[in-house]
Amino acid sequence: MNFNTKVIHGGQQPEPHTGAVNVPVFLTSTFAQESPGKLRNGYEYSRGANPTRQALEDSLAAIENGARGLAFGSGLAATDCVLKLLSPGDEIIAGDDLYGGSYRLFTRLFAKYNLKFTFIDFSDLSAVEAAITDRTKLIWLETPTNPLMKLIDIEAVVKMVSDRDILVAVDNTFASPYIQRPLDLGADIVMHSATKYLGGHSDVVAGALVAKTEELGEQLHFIQFASGGILGPHDSYLVLRGIKTLALRMQRHSENGQKIAAYLEEHPAIGKVFYPGLESHPHHELATRQMKGIYGGMLSFTFKSGEKTDSFRFLEKLKVFTLAESLGGVESLANHPATMTHASIPADKRAEIGITDDLVRLSVGIEDAEDLILDLEQALS
Ligand SMILES: *Cc1c(COP(=O)(O)O)cnc(C)c1O
Repeated sequence: MNFNTKVIHGGQQPEPHTGAVNVPVFLTSTFAQESPGKLRNGYEYSRGANPTRQALEDSLAAIENGARGLAFGSGLAATDCVLKLLSPGDEIIAGDDLYGGSYRLFTRLFAKYNLKFTFIDFSDLSAVEAAITDRTKLIWLETPTNPLMKLIDIEAVVKMVSDRDILVAVDNTFASPYIQRPLDLGADIVMHSATKYLGGHSDVVAGALVAKTEELGEQLHFIQFASGGILGPHDSYLVLRGIKTLALRMQRHSENGQKIAAYLEEHPAIGKVFYPGLESHPHHELATRQMKGIYGGMLSFTFKSGEKTDSFRFLEKLKVFTLAESLGGVESLANHPATMTHASIPADKRAEIGITDDLVRLSVGIEDAEDLILDLEQALS
């Protein structure tokens, strides 16, 4: 099955009793048993499995080409589940330009259970290799990174650790499986904030994991079942509905993203534009290989003046773009990472990474590009 077919049919069957084309929202916590321990259709209690969530999980596995999908109450609950594979003393190597909430979860929660995190710029793979020890058990990647849109070569990282007992997990939220499929490149686990492109309509908070193998999927399911961070049936339905238009939406997000990046790059008030689809992007070649020649709807930029006040004035003037956290919905959003999405990263750390006070991040929606550019134009002038 090709991708456009998979987002609609992957892992999906008509409902067996009525033939309903869409999976019903199964609002039930428990399932009647035929005799003690003898289940009717494998369902027992909805923390373990629920048919609506199951339909979403089967779709997730299909679109990421994995063995098993799991749906969580948020992206961070999905990440939390991966980290619970580890034991005290284990080491994790993560990218240094991560989603702020992942950084907070790692450094303020899991560090106290004696997991050791090292944050590294993955554009230098020899530095990553030098940081690997006998205790390294997990590599955690985000590509493109948030908010600076740096790329990490997933295949090269997988190759580097292939003779070691190290899992490679990729946060694929920014690219979505339409553009990039990490499991095909050799990664073990894909994580999503399904709140973003998978859901696609800014109406649900949800998370996802897809495991490459049945065995790893079973371990992750055990942790999810034992610790309980599942996605409810209503929200599972919303994400599943969102996935059906993922391919169409990602095409438009990418077209608009490319046009806006090109517009900003030419604008005299703008400093740098970070968008992997621009030839000026340092990882453009890798992006073209790894992201199938389209680059999504996320980009960020700085002002030539370098002034925080310029970014604030610009953000206050936008009319079509909404000033808000989050990303990946049909509507365009603008965000000031240093005070909004990345405020949980200490100021000195932000400066080191390059999240300057004049940096603005855009999540380009699927509106008409002309209207979006006119909005940017009026706000910049
Ligand atoms: C939003 C986001 C998360 C966290 O997901 P939630 O659904 O908000 O818990 C993780 N990674 C990335 C890249 C994100 O954008």
